[in-house]
Amino acid sequence: MSCEWRSKTSLYADDELGAAAQQEFSAHLRSCGECSEALSEQLALKKAVRIAGNQFSAPAELHAKVFRQLHPRSSASSVWKSLSAAAGMAVVVLVFMLVARSPKTEEPMLAGLVDQHITALASANAVDVVSEDRHTVKPWFQGKLGFTFTPPELAGSSFKLLGGKVVYVQQKPGAELLYTAGAHKISVFVFRAANAEDHTAMWQRSRSFNSSRWSEAGLEFFLVTDATKDEASGLVNLFQQANRS
Ligand SMILES: [Zn+2]
Repeated sequence: MSCEWRSKTSLYADDELGAAAQQEFSAHLRSCGECSEALSEQLALKKAVRIAGNQFSAPAELHAKVFRQLHPRSSASSVWKSLSAAAGMAVVVLVFMLVARSPKTEEPMLAGLVDQHITALASANAVDVVSEDRHTVKPWFQGKLGFTFTPPELAGSSFKLLGGKVVYVQQKPGAELLYTAGAHKISVFVFRAANAEDHTAMWQRSRSFNSSRWSEAGLEFFLVTDATKDEASGLVNLFQQANRS
């Protein structure tokens, strides 16, 4: 059994479907295990390529070898050699293209959080503690992280808590809290602050997602969502009020 949407997963992961089709595909992922699984594999590959891209630069020797293979001798026996060399080259070129395509401006932490949010959208079990009640979710994290934080009271707001889980991004443990805002999902991530505190929420757009980053009380908060900044900024305010030191 093969889903007709499956071939679109790599375009979706690279945000190349166009805004409407990206939304449509996000919705499809919630009900299709096959595409969700294909997307997870795609994201794992992208991550591996990104790590390889950071660590690997082609030595001069490889450039010279590639150049020689591009200029095969014309004897018949060398045709097969150059064909197999060409196949090898295609793989090298593909890897270089993937590395070149991964956006250089996207910082690794944010890239990891967007991937984590997409994984949550695609997963049937997006959270490990399933509860709308912050008084259930907050204590669940105790003993699992080396810090505490306060999920805000949502009464009177348009946000709903779905639950949370522990995540590791850039080798750092943190909390992911998943919310809905109408038809949209919002992930709020909490880590121990690594940098000087900045209470002003900084918004940016990464792939098809809006993200925001701010810090309070020694903690660093990130929000990732497909909702607009206007729709999601209320949740930033609620978190800031609940965790203000
Ligand atoms: Zn599908």
